[in-house]
Amino acid sequence: MQAVYLLHFDRRINPNHPTQHYLGYASDVHRRIRQHRKGNGSRLCQVAKERGIEFTVAREWYLGDRALERQLKRQKNSRKLCPLCNHIDWKL
Ligand SMILES: [Zn+2]
Repeated sequence: MQAVYLLHFDRRINPNHPTQHYLGYASDVHRRIRQHRKGNGSRLCQVAKERGIEFTVAREWYLGDRALERQLKRQKNSRKLCPLCNHIDWKL
């Protein structure tokens, strides 16, 4: 299933940089996330894996496409989209 997804890392990838999220799009989101868990599919996930930083799939926009990915990335504020960082249970 295709989706736009947001990964929330357990801590900052680089202590000197605030990045703690990864926003991506995949035509097969579950396959892509399995790749990310192995440190594949993005440079950020590779570095996180090397440093032993785990992630949670914080949010998925099912049927979201590359246009949505671009739109969300343009906001440059993944933290705002993250239910874990905002203590929101979107499923309610
Ligand atoms: Zn978060």
